[in-house]
Amino acid sequence: MNQRVFSGMRPTGQLHLGHLAGALTNWIKLQDGYDCFYSIVDWHALMSDYADSSKIESNCREVLIDWLSSGLDPEKCVIFVQSHVPQHAELHLALSMVTPLGWLQRCPTYKEQIINIQNKDLSNYAFLGYPVLMAADILLYKAGIVPVGEDQSAHLEIAREMVRRFNGFFGEVLVEPQIMLTPTPKVPGTDGKKMSKSYGNSINLADSPEDVWNKLRTMVTDPAREKRTDPGDPEKCPVWDIHKVFNNSDSEKAEIAEGCRTAGIGCVDCKKKLKVHVERVMNPIREKRAYYEKNPDLLGDILREGAVKAGAVARKTMDEVVAALGFVR
Ligand code: SF4
Repeated sequence: MNQRVFSGMRPTGQLHLGHLAGALTNWIKLQDGYDCFYSIVDWHALMSDYADSSKIESNCREVLIDWLSSGLDPEKCVIFVQSHVPQHAELHLALSMVTPLGWLQRCPTYKEQIINIQNKDLSNYAFLGYPVLMAADILLYKAGIVPVGEDQSAHLEIAREMVRRFNGFFGEVLVEPQIMLTPTPKVPGTDGKKMSKSYGNSINLADSPEDVWNKLRTMVTDPAREKRTDPGDPEKCPVWDIHKVFNNSDSEKAEIAEGCRTAGIGCVDCKKKLKVHVERVMNPIREKRAYYEKNPDLLGDILREGAVKAGAVARKTMDEVVAALGFVR
């Protein structure tokens, strides 16, 4: 297996604690041992927000600041914007020629999102073709490893099938990526549902301490604890799920769990303890955020340098693809 890693995030708004625990923490670890390419995939954002693209630029900037502030280091990994490397669109087109429609129509995430996402028009071609563009993103860098959560593994399987089909027609050009399944810790939002910007329940990396406390203070808890004197069950409480991810003190967690079950601790005190741990994680991120916000030129430099590095690899792959297709050059 080669040691190149590719992963990306759609610039759909500020990142939150769910992104930090689910993807970024793992990406930051990988940058120390692997050849990592991390892309802000702006074409993918257009797929569902095509009618109003006015926020894509500012969202890209926010994602970049969140990445850098959380610990991604452009000295250790390549950070770039997808549309700055036009070969993503070119390889997407080539792959679309060899992708049977049925593969995309059967994709479980496609079927699920068509049913569940009602506030956006997803009847465009690009939404069906999402796995084709995602495959192009990965295959362009001949990435051997793609860290994904369980929900994205079906897309990776399609990418692997595309490689086999493409190489079967045109020769051994593309590389089959391996899935690195990353455990995604459960990080519920303030309403207890999965943390997501679109649900309006997220604690964002850019939130102030006051915002964080206001969100934690009003967060839902075990519904059985109507009164302070009612015993609760931490396993039925979203606040406890966040303790499990961000509270690094096993003894304190044991005390809280016991206190919850015996009504020895109130929910407000439990949330105050959680705030300390969330702030321990968020404070350094806030400090770096402030630094990058004051130095916007740095952001442009990082993206330009990333596009040069990513572009060099992408051009080489695309030259091989075009040669394999037998196009006149
Ligand atoms: Fe949840 Fe903590 Fe209240 Fe128990 S004490 S219900 S874990 S907030």
